[in-house]
Amino acid sequence: MNINQLVRPNIRAMRPYSSARDEYQSTDKVTLLDANENPYNTEYNRYPDPYQNLLKYKISEVKNIDKENIFLGNGSDEAIDLIFRIFCEPTIDNVVIPDPTYGMYEVAAAIQNIEVKRIPLGTNFTLSTKEILEATDSRTKVIFICNPNNPTGNAFDEYDIFQLLENFNGVVVIDEAYIDFSESKSLINRIKDDNNLIVLQTFSKAWGLAGLRLGVAFSNPEIIQLFNKVKAPYNLSSTTQKQACKLIDRKKDILNKEVKELIENRKSMIQKLQKLAVIDKIYQSETNFLLVKFKNHQEAYNQLKINGLIVRDRSTALNCNGCLRITIGTQEENEKVLKTLETL
Ligand SMILES: *Cc1c(COP(=O)(O)O)cnc(C)c1O
Repeated sequence: MNINQLVRPNIRAMRPYSSARDEYQSTDKVTLLDANENPYNTEYNRYPDPYQNLLKYKISEVKNIDKENIFLGNGSDEAIDLIFRIFCEPTIDNVVIPDPTYGMYEVAAAIQNIEVKRIPLGTNFTLSTKEILEATDSRTKVIFICNPNNPTGNAFDEYDIFQLLENFNGVVVIDEAYIDFSESKSLINRIKDDNNLIVLQTFSKAWGLAGLRLGVAFSNPEIIQLFNKVKAPYNLSSTTQKQACKLIDRKKDILNKEVKELIENRKSMIQKLQKLAVIDKIYQSETNFLLVKFKNHQEAYNQLKINGLIVRDRSTALNCNGCLRITIGTQEENEKVLKTLETL
């Protein structure tokens, strides 16, 4: 596929801002008088590395993928925003998303004045591949698929996703924010075969670094270069880069243990919730949350809130009436939820 043809003409034509540190790569002893920084060392007096080379190196090792296939953003929300700004011409282009799904695609689209075509998920929240493809037209630039999906919690059939990749003449974004909790395989290895594929992952969920703001887009070098062209020059602070390097090293050994534990907690939570009369249905989950349908969700929500337990009301999402989304916490936290719901 010709990616360049999908790019907005103004983005194709523009020259990126050349930051002071673009030309300076080595860590040799040099005197930096190029960026109007304050010379007195406070640890943070220098601008950060605009391409986050050390952190990318670390992530490339952990994910077993080349640095040139990696874009790092201030959360994956930055990557989502950049995808719109790179590919979608305001008021002209459109994107297709399943419904319900992660809310940021629509917010980012609205900011850029991009039409969003929402295609309802099928029974049991399966991907309506045929309908999605039928909804695309010559101005459809991107299909966003969140897999496993938020807020429904299920993972989609790999075959359905491949159908989209093979039959859509535009960019396919697979948002794998919850992939560490899933039985499904990540598609990051497919970026070599499909040059229209962008895989998003985040350090906010399984990795436990939501406060740092670190999201990743994996794609072919051509698309990664487009991200680099459009992003703010210093999009990740020195703190984020340093702390992420340190914490990724520390966390990578305990990640599996924590994820296993959370999956155990999820299982146990499902078993115990099933016994409660106030609950109508618990949807199958490959994430660290459960979508739970209550007979009276408002009452459940309020009772939880009174007890200091904050969950997400998803009852207005398509085919989610009566549903709350409950994040899996520690055993003690989950017990509190159960105890509270038992009082209803
Ligand atoms: C939580 C979440 C993200 C994470 O966004 P960050 O900006 O990286 O914190 C991305 N996509 C989905 C579907 C999510 O649920």
